[in-house]
Amino acid sequence: MKVLDNNENLMRCLCPNCPTYGACMKTEEKTALYCARNSTRCAVDKQGCICGECPVGSDYRLNDMYYCVIGKA
Ligand code: SF4
Ligand code: SF4
Repeated sequence: MKVLDNNENLMRCLCPNCPTYGACMKTEEKTALYCARNSTRCAVDKQGCICGECPVGSDYRLNDMYYCVIGKA
């Protein structure tokens, strides 16, 4: 199921708490909810992904990780 890019999902997205969510994403890009959007333009240093613990991920039955790298679910 396509993940809706809405404020409710953005507020529940765990990306900002993720160890991989680095300085570029935080201070330059300032976005998240990658499973509903495009992948990040920032360089990604994979430090783990917490999509598996995310309520949005479970609502939409997402099985992948690193949506910041792979883009929309
Ligand atoms: S599944 Fe991952 S990318 Fe999607 S809302 Fe949750 S933490 Fe963010
Ligand atoms: S998609 Fe996964 S790895 Fe990327 S910032 Fe979100 S929780 Fe972290």
